[in-house]
Amino acid sequence: MVGTMHAWHAVERGHEVVHIEREAEARGASLRNFGQIWVSGRAGGEELDTALRARELWEGIGARVPGLGFRANGSLTPVRNELELAVAEAALARPDAAARGYKLLTAGEALAVNPALRGAFENGVAQAALWCERDAAVEPRLAQLALREALLATGKYTFLPNREVRDVVGENAVRDDRGDVHTGDAVVLCTGAWLSGLVREVAGEIPVRRVRLQMMQTEPLGEPLTTSVADADSFRYYPAYASEALDALQAAQPQDPTAAAHKMQLLMVQRLDGGLTIGDTHEYEHPFAFDTLEDPYEHLTRVVESFLGRPLPKIRRRWAGVYAQCVDTSRVVHRQRVRDGVWLVTGPGGRGMTCSPAIAETTANELGW
Ligand SMILES: Cc1cc2nc3c(=O)[nH]c(=O)nc-3n(C[C@H](O)[C@H](O)[C@H](O)COP(=O)(O)OP(=O)(O)OC[C@H]3O[C@@H](n4cnc5c(N)ncnc54)[C@H](O)[C@@H]3O)c2cc1C
Repeated sequence: MVGTMHAWHAVERGHEVVHIEREAEARGASLRNFGQIWVSGRAGGEELDTALRARELWEGIGARVPGLGFRANGSLTPVRNELELAVAEAALARPDAAARGYKLLTAGEALAVNPALRGAFENGVAQAALWCERDAAVEPRLAQLALREALLATGKYTFLPNREVRDVVGENAVRDDRGDVHTGDAVVLCTGAWLSGLVREVAGEIPVRRVRLQMMQTEPLGEPLTTSVADADSFRYYPAYASEALDALQAAQPQDPTAAAHKMQLLMVQRLDGGLTIGDTHEYEHPFAFDTLEDPYEHLTRVVESFLGRPLPKIRRRWAGVYAQCVDTSRVVHRQRVRDGVWLVTGPGGRGMTCSPAIAETTANELGW
């Protein structure tokens, strides 16, 4: 998506783009994510500004490319007790709360916004919810395909799949693994979490790490889940929630052991086919597991069933994905000029789907496209 959004902005500004992809179709993080255009937990300052700008760009691009499935669905985070409520209230007291569209909803109000959350708001599991109006969603499995179709229709875009970029050649050119050299006014390497090979050769060791996540997707729910949903474990991970109230929560309410072991939070979004995409875990230690573990899935199922007040539909898919994240997590992205005319853009972390249009816009502005 980072590469595709660079192509989008370049074409918008009248340039021609050759987009080189190693696989027959993209298979990286941009396809494996939730498709959450996630504003709610972003750190104040540059990170929030980038996410808000990206949210605006997604909405505009989504209006022109309906196939990517943009919808302004907002999110609800049910809070289950006074400690979690205090964290939500602290978030509401932030100076940037209004920009995020934060609101504290009573259980009745939350149920009216998302009637599928009967377990949370009718059965007394949660007493209130943090609403974030700015959160939105797209369809990760469709977005790149839909954007590519729109780009191809401009006549200014060429997609070259099944070619791996192997070398940077002089200035402004790359050689692929078929020996073909592609020259442009600018080269932007958007290689996602592939930090070895080409990236190590042209940039050395960069301050970017890899993070692996486990995900799952269900059969259709059979009713609308009108908002994205998070659980209060997300308060522990997103910088926007750092507060004395969070310190008190962490001290008094240890996280569920499975959730703590796998650095988990619940995030859930309904796909356009009605299925639920549910995650996630965070693995930082290498070597990464090559298989998926059941315990985290069982934990997520328990949490989701408590919110829905009904059994989860059958799981249809399980997968893992890896993203690249700046080691200094306050940095939005790693953008580096590696040679004259050649830039590397990677490391947007768990917010790369959200921020990709704004990250690419910044590159376009900085390079004077
Ligand atoms: C499970 C999961 C859930 C996530 N959820 C969200 C979310 O809901 N919201 C959000 O904002 N972010 C989310 N993220 C993060 C987000 O998905 C990533 O930050 C973002 O997709 C990164 O995009 P990218 O284009 O840099 O990488 P990728 O999508 O991985 O793309 C990199 C591409 O480069 C190609 N490539 C690499 N090297 C070469 C080469 N030498 N030659 C040719 N091609 C090459 C690869 O084949 C690949 O297609 C999630 C990530 C994961 C893994």
